[in-house]
Amino acid sequence: MVPALSRLVDEQGRPLRLGDKLGEGGEGAVFRLAEHSSQAIKVYASPLTVERAQKIKILTQFSQTDIGRFTAWPSGLVLDEKGRARGLLLPVVEHGKDIHHLYTPSSRRKHFSTANWRFLVHVSGNVARAFGAVHALGLVIGDVNPGSILVLGDGTVRLIDVDSFQVPVPGGRPLLCTVAVHIFLPPELHQAPLDSVVRTPDHDTFGLAVMIFQLLMLGRHPYAGRFLGAGEMPIERAIAEHRFVFGAHAADRQMQRPPNTVAMEILPSSVAALFESAFAPPAHRRQRPSAREWVQALDQLAAELAHCRRNPTHYYPRSASLCPWCDFEQSTGVLLFDVPATTFTQRYEGEYRQLVDLIAAVPRPVPATLVAATSDIVVNPVAQEAAKTPGLAWGSYVLGILLMVGGALPTTSRWAVDPSWCRCLGVWRRRTQKASEAVDQRLPRCQERRSGCCGGA
Ligand SMILES: [Zn+2]
Repeated sequence: MVPALSRLVDEQGRPLRLGDKLGEGGEGAVFRLAEHSSQAIKVYASPLTVERAQKIKILTQFSQTDIGRFTAWPSGLVLDEKGRARGLLLPVVEHGKDIHHLYTPSSRRKHFSTANWRFLVHVSGNVARAFGAVHALGLVIGDVNPGSILVLGDGTVRLIDVDSFQVPVPGGRPLLCTVAVHIFLPPELHQAPLDSVVRTPDHDTFGLAVMIFQLLMLGRHPYAGRFLGAGEMPIERAIAEHRFVFGAHAADRQMQRPPNTVAMEILPSSVAALFESAFAPPAHRRQRPSAREWVQALDQLAAELAHCRRNPTHYYPRSASLCPWCDFEQSTGVLLFDVPATTFTQRYEGEYRQLVDLIAAVPRPVPATLVAATSDIVVNPVAQEAAKTPGLAWGSYVLGILLMVGGALPTTSRWAVDPSWCRCLGVWRRRTQKASEAVDQRLPRCQERRSGCCGGA
């Protein structure tokens, strides 16, 4: 709970007034800023730790870049009457909805009524763009999960919970992300101590691949299937044991694709190969496909979609010989995309053009001032800037020392301006490896498995 705060100010000492409450969780609450309705204040229940305040301060150094097009990026600290860091300023994401609402026909119909598979392909590409933009800044998302990605009606996305990202500290150890959702965590981290392990973009791209898979493959988790061995095979264990259900080696790993799913053969070989690579055991790969590789493959897929002759709501890869959605709907009786053809076509064509324009307008996520002239998507402007101006690094430390802070906050960050995240994430999220085991023992299983949000059948 957030205590009564008589006076909050920004870093320049300007007073801030709380408006409507937009959400509340274990760490505190998010309020709309009374003076600027497009801005929000995330107020923590307790003063921030030195490390958390330092992390936010480093993050705000990027707030003037284009990263705000992909994220709800913090723009500054919020201080209380004693000068202690109590929260952060961030933009409100109007009308953003959790990405898992796109997974199943029923939730799509309710939350994204005009979305078809072409829309899903574009959202997938935009998620990859957002990941690439974060990685280009030298940051790691760490806690990849669908509750931290909001999708807007035009198919663009916003990453939230930015204050849980792993951020680089020039000349020092990164400020870590210590939380995770297991079903998006790469196998090599399942037994790792998250409160001390340094994450990499390659870890993020495992979760990215899972998310893209769920978008393109009707919400199915790539590791949720029939186990042909003895006993049960929870998704977390299947990930740790590299049992990709839809891959070419699934049978070797005693896994079988569940009923009422589509095979990966519906996808172009270029996209299927990225999934195989992302989910392969380390002995069979060097590095997972990067966000940039996903963007390229998904852009190509978007450009090569076929339009079903029997059902105008169906778009599918041109590489497939027949429309897989006609076959799926006929065999299961499930209507995947049921927007009336005329309405759908008119509305979606307009949205599609806007989306293409938006994407075309974002050739580089980082402004030239922060990017080396010849660098591409893998740059670390913090390190570059720090090398030029050592004061940048020390400034963060000095600020942290100056800020009076109280007790440590819970490290779980469960904030969204739209707080309607999947309940199962609250169940499975863990703060550390050790805490996770205890929490998992106590909490009930996800109540939304049927929705496909976590791969349930
Ligand atoms: Zn069809």
